[in-house]
Amino acid sequence: MSRQAGESELVHIAFDDTDSRLGRCTTHLAFKITGRLRAMGVKLVDYPLLIRLNPNIPWKTRGNGAVCIRVRTKDPDKVVDFVRQSVEEGSAIGAGANPAVAFLCGKIPPSLAKFSSIAMFDVLSRQKAEKVAKENGIEYFTFGNGQGLVGSLGAMGCLLESGDYTFELISYRRPENCGTPRIVDRNRVIECHGAFPDTFNSYDEKNKRVLIAPHGPDPVFCGIRGEDPDSILSAFSMLQPEERLDGYMVFRSNQGTNMHLQNLLKLNESKVYTAGYVRCRVKEKPQAMQGGHVLFAVEDGSGSMLAAVYEPTGLAKIAASLDTGDIIEIGCGIRKPTVKHPKVLNVEYIRILELACIFDVLNPVCKICGKRMKSEGKNKGFQCDRCKYRDIAATKVYLPKRRSIEPGLYLPVPKAHRHLTKPLQRYGKEKSGFRFSGLCRDWFGSGNFQASFGN
Ligand SMILES: [Zn+2]
Repeated sequence: MSRQAGESELVHIAFDDTDSRLGRCTTHLAFKITGRLRAMGVKLVDYPLLIRLNPNIPWKTRGNGAVCIRVRTKDPDKVVDFVRQSVEEGSAIGAGANPAVAFLCGKIPPSLAKFSSIAMFDVLSRQKAEKVAKENGIEYFTFGNGQGLVGSLGAMGCLLESGDYTFELISYRRPENCGTPRIVDRNRVIECHGAFPDTFNSYDEKNKRVLIAPHGPDPVFCGIRGEDPDSILSAFSMLQPEERLDGYMVFRSNQGTNMHLQNLLKLNESKVYTAGYVRCRVKEKPQAMQGGHVLFAVEDGSGSMLAAVYEPTGLAKIAASLDTGDIIEIGCGIRKPTVKHPKVLNVEYIRILELACIFDVLNPVCKICGKRMKSEGKNKGFQCDRCKYRDIAATKVYLPKRRSIEPGLYLPVPKAHRHLTKPLQRYGKEKSGFRFSGLCRDWFGSGNFQASFGN
């Protein structure tokens, strides 16, 4: 990392894989680090970014989320030392975390941006990450097996400046409360959900489930997602949690944007663990299996593959209503082959583009009494069982089948959403770029924030 003394420098700080199942959390570390950086007089040049990467990576941490904080500082060395130490001390090293922290001064180079865009849907090796880091003068520190470097660079290279993005306010519990049940007033969540249409995934109306609070031992109290900082701050203020919290921070994020599903996959070239979308034709009538999952073959001109729709997504009924010849687009991740199955497309959404005409083939109706006749054999006409009327010229009748589904977009139920899944209400609200014009009021709260917040 090259540094100039005296001048205020742009520094990108990114880290990943600091959490484990035992209750540490990368965003919480970001909250802690940001609080200290503020106290050190370091200026942020964007909201801290929470970047979700390819969710199909099997060795990912829980949400495969990495963080990037972009700052201006006159003392990059001090910032680097402080953050490196915080990541080392604040990570669950030895308990499953393999953290990495990376620093870069100046502009984001194109090869880093490219690396990041690939990290959204593909598998990248640690070696590739090291190569990109070295080529671009990125200073990095890894702990454990260092797998976190891939996510760190993925987040660092993701500027979220030309496409869609969202915000999330994440609030944190005080250490003494971690591990105890979170008390969230369900009625207030429902109220917020109704009052702030620019928040999303707070409440699942159909399943009557509160979605903002996790259930594990991690320090996250709740997360409120939305289109802009104002609506999530207002919603959080309305929530009035009774538990005394450690604080909260507003992140800018690629959550809820389908960023992992932007590339068109070709079935004959599709790699295990990649994500994307496929335009295809249903090759045979889907079959429901044990457990309510639906498996069916699709083809796209390059090849064919099995697609799987799992029961918990709530999409199984739609999938089972598809038929041979239907033209669909599916968002999917590619599951590795198992002993029982070859590679399979794990379906994340279904867009029905065109329904095929499906016919029921029936015998003709008797002209005399109206009963369906019976075939006398090939080319021998039909005879009525009831009145014995015979019709040598009658032919089979092709009756267009009434389809139970319509063209359109079908998404999983909210509880089955991944962090990156774009919820239905966001369709049409996609943003086309971001220009930083300062952090909004109250974007960060710590200590005694509840007393003054919202006044
Ligand atoms: Zn008859």
